[in-house]
Order: sequence, then C-alpha cells, then structure tokens
Amino acid sequence: MSNDQISVSFKCKKCGTQLSWPDDAADSFEVSCAGCGASAGTYGELRSTAMKEAKQHIEKAFADAFKKLR
Ligand SMILES: [Zn+2]
Repeated sequence: MSNDQISVSFKCKKCGTQLSWPDDAADSFEVSCAGCGASAGTYGELRSTAMKEAKQHIEKAFADAFKKLR
C-alpha cells in the first residue's frame, strides 16, 4: 500500500478518545467513539474535513513561501 496518504487523527469531541475506523471503511461508514460511543459522523465526512484542512495547510505554506520571495 502507498504511504503518501495524509495522516490526520481525529479525537472525540466529547471525551478526547482517538477515533479509529477500519482501513477499508466506506464513505458511509459511521465512525463512533470507542470511549463514550458518541457518533463522529461518517468516514466520508471526516475524510473531507481532513482534505480541507490539508488544503488550507498547503495554501498557507505556499503563501508563506511567496511572502519570503518578495
Ligand atoms: Zn468519546
């Protein structure tokens, strides 16, 4: 398997337990907290949140790089 996936960890908003899901989870897979059982939304939702955060991170890194060039 590839190692180029963005590694993002999610924690339960209620109790702080690290959320986990199967590697082969489908987008519709409901992720719930192993600690308190709270629902954290679907895998698809978590993944799109991670994508957004990664994109913002990259955009910021680019913006910072260009600032240095000026
Ligand atoms: Zn929890």
